[in-house]
Amino acid sequence: MRKVGLHVAVVGAGAFGGWTALHLLECGANVTLLDAWGPGNSRSSSGGETRIMRCAYGADKAYTDMAARSITLWQKYQRRWKRQLLHRSGVLWISSGREDSYERRSLETLRGAGIKFRRLSSVQMKKRWPQINLEGVDWGLYEPESGYLDARASCQAVVDAFTAAGGTYRQLAVVGKLDGEHPTRPPGRPTREAGFRTSQSMRNLELSDGSRLKADAFVFACGPWLGELFPRTIGDLIQPTKQEVFFFGTSPGDARFTDTHLPVWAENHDRFFYGIPGSDRRGFKVADDTRGPAFDPTNGERVVGQETLKLVREYVAFRFPALKDAPLLETRVCQYEQTPDSNFIIDRHPALENVWIAGGGSGHGFKHGPAIGEMVANLILKDGEPPATWHLDRFNR
Ligand SMILES: Cc1cc2nc3c(=O)[nH]c(=O)nc-3n(C[C@H](O)[C@H](O)[C@H](O)COP(=O)(O)OP(=O)(O)OC[C@H]3O[C@@H](n4cnc5c(N)ncnc54)[C@H](O)[C@@H]3O)c2cc1C
Repeated sequence: MRKVGLHVAVVGAGAFGGWTALHLLECGANVTLLDAWGPGNSRSSSGGETRIMRCAYGADKAYTDMAARSITLWQKYQRRWKRQLLHRSGVLWISSGREDSYERRSLETLRGAGIKFRRLSSVQMKKRWPQINLEGVDWGLYEPESGYLDARASCQAVVDAFTAAGGTYRQLAVVGKLDGEHPTRPPGRPTREAGFRTSQSMRNLELSDGSRLKADAFVFACGPWLGELFPRTIGDLIQPTKQEVFFFGTSPGDARFTDTHLPVWAENHDRFFYGIPGSDRRGFKVADDTRGPAFDPTNGERVVGQETLKLVREYVAFRFPALKDAPLLETRVCQYEQTPDSNFIIDRHPALENVWIAGGGSGHGFKHGPAIGEMVANLILKDGEPPATWHLDRFNR
């Protein structure tokens, strides 16, 4: 494929697609970015206010390194754009000796990657954050240079930078199924092993305004919609799951639960609760990371369930006693685009040599957007090979 003046169509302006489009453009490609409803829209997985930026990933060096690379890039771009998107309020992993293998393994990986962290005793934590009830807690893993990211605002900032640098953004949807039945293809999911890398390629896309978009290469970063667009290749490998987010109100003038007094926190026990302290006057954000039921990202009604609210309230009352009777200010329903093993899918389409798929963030993809964009741009422009962890055909083995 010719690389000079290559025209790449990127579909999806969320965390994966927006950054990919920007990096491709900066590497000299001619890029058209499309999104059905706009960057960080309320249906997308990148919508809403905030996302956690952490580097601890248990023993997983690849994600730890990628998070570290992303922090560098978030900083570089926010300096360039003169606006803060990464808030380094710190991230605190609240751990008990009973179930702390993830945190313990993270210590080694963080050390190996040269990422700053501190192991805090519960006494040190109590002194520093008396607003947390540390009953049952043995220690904490504190990442002082991590924190949280503005979500929707970042997606918009990326698209603004992309268009300012000469990229074309169009708010249109790609219609149709892109790898439906094809007479020359064998049945089942296409695989690399089956030698299905033929010279077939995609030529153009049909858009929601009736027009067609031609390009030399295509990147599909359509988050929870990837299974619908590629029923044969992706199908239910990406499962949208209903995830609920709650924002609680603090007492008038009480700053103890804002990002100036409390880090982002996470506690991985029977359930995995996490939260981002009140930022931008939106209240104290709490969510349960447990995968919810299947969810339709287009037509699903975004109303939280009473059952999750009850669990979240009980947890908040226990761990943050001053918020026991805190009123619920706002709620959000988002979806994870969950893969069977929680690893991303970043790969060339097995049957269409000029088509790339980037998605499957599985509840942890947002922070990695800048590094993913950089990687996908390199894969396309330098004919690279993605790491095996993210290959599509790992699911055929
Ligand atoms: C509640 C919640 C909390 C999370 N917390 C964190 C966190 O703390 N840290 C973290 O790193 N990650 C977190 N994540 C995960 C992270 O947000 C996602 O993995 C990431 O945002 C996915 O980005 P994406 O670009 O793949 O998908 P999306 O953001 O969904 O983007 C896909 C885009 O494609 C567009 N699109 C779809 N179909 C078409 C079409 N046919 N034509 C044109 N456009 C189309 C959509 O409009 C959408 O804008 C969380 C997710 C949720 C839901």
